[in-house]
Order: sequence, then C-alpha cells, then structure tokens
Amino acid sequence: MPPLKEKYGLILNQYETVESKVKKNDFLSVILDNHHVSASDVDILAKKEKHLEQTPYLRPGKKYTILKNRETQKVEYFAYEPNPYKYILYDLRDTMSVTEVRKKVTKKVVNSSGVIESSLWNAIVGSDDIAPSMVQSIAANMEDALQWSVDFHHVQKGDKFRMIFEEDWIEGERVGVGKLIAAHFFQDGNDYYAIRFKNEKYDGFFDPEGRPMKKNFLKAPVKYARISSRFNRNRFHPVLKRRKAHLGTDFAAPTGTPIMATADGTVIKRSRTRGNGNFVKIKHDDTYSTQYLHMSKFQKGVNVGTRVKQGQTIGYVGSTGLATGPHVCYRFWKNGKQVDPKRQNLPPPEPIPASDKEEFFKEKDKWIDQLKGIQFKTLEDVVAVETVKEEEKDSTKVNP
Ligand SMILES: [Zn+2]
Repeated sequence: MPPLKEKYGLILNQYETVESKVKKNDFLSVILDNHHVSASDVDILAKKEKHLEQTPYLRPGKKYTILKNRETQKVEYFAYEPNPYKYILYDLRDTMSVTEVRKKVTKKVVNSSGVIESSLWNAIVGSDDIAPSMVQSIAANMEDALQWSVDFHHVQKGDKFRMIFEEDWIEGERVGVGKLIAAHFFQDGNDYYAIRFKNEKYDGFFDPEGRPMKKNFLKAPVKYARISSRFNRNRFHPVLKRRKAHLGTDFAAPTGTPIMATADGTVIKRSRTRGNGNFVKIKHDDTYSTQYLHMSKFQKGVNVGTRVKQGQTIGYVGSTGLATGPHVCYRFWKNGKQVDPKRQNLPPPEPIPASDKEEFFKEKDKWIDQLKGIQFKTLEDVVAVETVKEEEKDSTKVNP
C-alpha cells in the first residue's frame, strides 16, 4: 500500500487529484467549469468567499489542487495556495463552504556569518545556502538593527558579520526569514552588537549595555543609497561650474526611492525653489532641523505642521532644482547653521532602567555567547573558494 499522503487536512490517497498552477486569465469559474462544476455551484462558492477576511483572487503562477471523488468523478474540494503560509479550501460537498487555513509555521533559530569581499549582498549570499529571495530580507533586517552604528554606505573588504535569526519552515521546507535575534558587525576596527529584546515594555534592538540601538538620527535618509558627495566647505559645483561650499551630504539613489525623516519632528517647510527643487524641512527640537532636497514628489499627507516619525516617508528621490542626477541632498541644521552630521556628538538615548536590566542582561549574555561561537568564514576561505572556481573556468578553456 502506498504511504498515506496528508494535505489540507485530507488524505490525498482517497481522491483523484489534479495539481496545477493558475494561468493568466484563469478564474475560479473557468477552472471549475473545466472539471464540470456547475455555474450555480461556483456562484454559491463566490458568495461564501465573502465571509473570508480577504477575497482570495487567483493569481497567475500560484498553486492549486483539485480533489475528485474516485467513483463519481465529482469535484469535492478545490484548494488554492496564494502563498506558502496559507491555503483556501473550497468544500464542494452538500452544504459547500470556503475556509482559509494558516499552515503551521515552525521557527528555527539559525546562525550565519560572512566576510565582505565585494559587497554585503554577496557576503550574505555566500555565507550560507540562503535562497536569493531571502537575501533582501536578511539585509533589511541587519540594516534595521545596525543602521545607527554601522556605516552601510561604506562597507569595505574585510568587514565581517555574524547573526542569529529565525527561519520559517512549513512542511519540511524553508519558506521565509523571520526576525533577526542578534547581530555582530565588525567595521573600521570596531565591534558593534545588536540584541533584540522584547517584553511588555520593549521591543527593539539594544547594545550590550542596554542602550537602544535606535539613535536620535538615522545615518541616512534613504536605504541602500550611496554617498555621492560629502559635506565640504570648498567644493567644485558640478552644475554651477565654480567653487561653492556643499553644506549637505548627497545620497544617490534611483528616482522614486522613498526619502525618510531621519528623526521625529514637525514639518516646517514643504516647497520648491530654483536651486533646491522640491524640498522638505523638519524641525526636531529647539536645536536641530533637517532638510531634504531635489525630491521628485512629496509624500501625500506630509504638509507644513505635520508630525513625522523617524523612518517615515516624506517624499521621493528626484533631480528637481540644480541637480545632475537623482539624489537627495541631506542638510543638517544646528542652531540655525548648517553642519556636518558626522561630526556631531549627539546625545546617546536613555538605557533600559535598572529595574529591567537583569532580564535584559540574561538575554543578552545568552545571545552574545552564541554570536561569539559562530566561526567567521574567513577571507581566506572565501578567496580559496573563488580561486577554485577560477581554476575550473581555466581548465574548461584548456579542455573544452
Ligand atoms: Zn547636495
């Protein structure tokens, strides 16, 4: 007897099954009609769908399974999987029903490490058998945790990282990346650690002393951008073709990239000038303001007087005003004067109070010990692997 195969809470062996993927212009009615389900029955199902939180539109490329009665050949179930985390089960027997079922997700805690050879992206790809689709998610998680300490715009060869994060597994398959638990980043001779701490009062990343990783200001107003021009009191202006102080930091990014407020504050200007193009200025407190120039467009709902949160989108990268290409010119004002944010000793945020510290330190010690136990894949290892690859290439040239 073949082994029992269970899926959708049913024993598949009892049915004749048809597994397929949704094609372009496939509707529930079209698919079921091909299997001799009447239009009136599809109608009833469509009405039952309305009880679900979200109507499950069939999307091209997504999996579905039809289960038929072996004797009568009538369709008894139609199961649709919009993503790996859930399925929608259409029960076509007697009363008919539609239910959405969340699959059981198993969380696995995994370790990873990497040494930067060319880019952070490649280091993450090379560090594990991480599916490329998950690299983006891991990079974003790491940036979320460390963006206030690590300069991700200047990651260099030899920088290295270790991390502990959760993976989502369903039915023996890795389907996604969960939360980052702890990370270590080594850059410029400095070690940075971030530990996630969560209880009734806190949910965020903290350094080993229990201070929030989240500083007063983000290091950059755009993600994954590159600094194209630094704060410089004596710069040759590429458009005006003369020396002119550059009182901002330029971050090059594609047009349309969201620009984030680098700290909580109130919008005090949202306008357009010949030089600045579309720009927004935010007042954070009596001392500090920030300004964002050359936007392609403003974020809807962000007006003079709007309160904005750190990380909130206020506009989109563009090249309006005097700009040679799409970038955001980020300006940092202290007491009404423009200064280089890199040179400011901004006050550190308040640490976790003594009453909660014991709990935090227990967590922290556990994760830092685990981080330190993760072997770095050394630069030599990485280089060695690449050399082997090169040799393979060479040998194929010699012996085609
Ligand atoms: Zn600029």
